[in-house]
Amino acid sequence: MPTTFVTATHTGLVRRGNEDAALADPPLFAVADGMGGAQAGEVAAGMVVAALQEHRPRTAAELAALVEASNRSIFERAAGNASRSGMGTTLTAALIGDGRVDFVHVGDSRAYRLRDGRLEQLSDDHSLVGEMVRRGELSEAGALSHPQRSIITRALGVDDTVEVDSFSVELAPGDRFLLCSDGLYSMVPAERIEAILGGGADLATIAAALIEAANAGGGEDNITVVVFSPDGSVPAGSAVDTSIVPAGDEAESAAGERPEKERGRWWRSWRVLAVSIAALIVLLLAGTWYLSQQFYYVGESDGKLAIFQGVPLEIGPLSLSSLYRQSDVTLGSLEPFEQERVRRQELSSLKTAEAMLENYAGRQPAQPDPDRGSGSGRTTGTRTSSTTVEF
Ligand code: MN
Repeated sequence: MPTTFVTATHTGLVRRGNEDAALADPPLFAVADGMGGAQAGEVAAGMVVAALQEHRPRTAAELAALVEASNRSIFERAAGNASRSGMGTTLTAALIGDGRVDFVHVGDSRAYRLRDGRLEQLSDDHSLVGEMVRRGELSEAGALSHPQRSIITRALGVDDTVEVDSFSVELAPGDRFLLCSDGLYSMVPAERIEAILGGGADLATIAAALIEAANAGGGEDNITVVVFSPDGSVPAGSAVDTSIVPAGDEAESAAGERPEKERGRWWRSWRVLAVSIAALIVLLLAGTWYLSQQFYYVGESDGKLAIFQGVPLEIGPLSLSSLYRQSDVTLGSLEPFEQERVRRQELSSLKTAEAMLENYAGRQPAQPDPDRGSGSGRTTGTRTSSTTVEF
């Protein structure tokens, strides 16, 4: 029996435009989720789907080559137009071959296979949370509520080259396939997708139920599904519910301010911003450290007076002061108000700090210490060593 298929897309309940695109042109099927805001996302998703439709790749190699060429076209079109800079698109495409299905995949749209009632995700999400899940740093459930779940790490059109995942699966009788944008799986738990995909009487009913479930779950994003049955074992069914906007329909894509779907541009500027902030922090720390080293203060080290260079502060692991010179004047030998002054760690010049220490040293009770000459001054504990005091 010939392959049966259905595509359906819906704007969802939050967005004003639909930047998803879908293709069902057996043996080729695809879902693309555009990004970049304003008209850009629609353009990028539309470009790759149009290229697939026009060139009709018939082998996995042709498909991969076409995707790479599309990447370059989108990138060049974005570079030539400021309002489209940062535009890009995901692409998950399937090509039915002889006893197998070949896939190409970039971004966070997904390909699933349902076999014997069990749902299998065939593609890896190229997203921040997808990578964290694969590294075992985040659970599948955690990924769905993560604040950065919409950041994708790979897309067509954002760089002049792109790494494309290519993979194939063997076909078995009764296999059903689903390609979808993140607007479906971010709103509908996998068990529910499994039940709907396995339970419908025909593909149109399945597609309508998937979109209904995504909207019931919040409908926060555009929802696009392509469902196909390579051996035609599931009937296509009648036309999908009229409330579902057909793929490529731009009726709802009203022009004007559209603050939604800025994630592609945001992802790019986020990288630039992160590097700028890091550079600024390094500069600020270096500047702060340099300035701090212009100050000195008299403080205490191991119960004895000492001169410190810097200011008595720590910024994270960075200490802004270090021991400059230790004396053998004990803190206990000072008058209470002098001890208090030392504890306040008042900043001064090196000259003033040295004079303070000299003054305190001068009033320290003489200690028998043959190693210290009376003329050596500043750090000796002998009363006679104190000669000048400067403030
Ligand atoms: Mn999306």
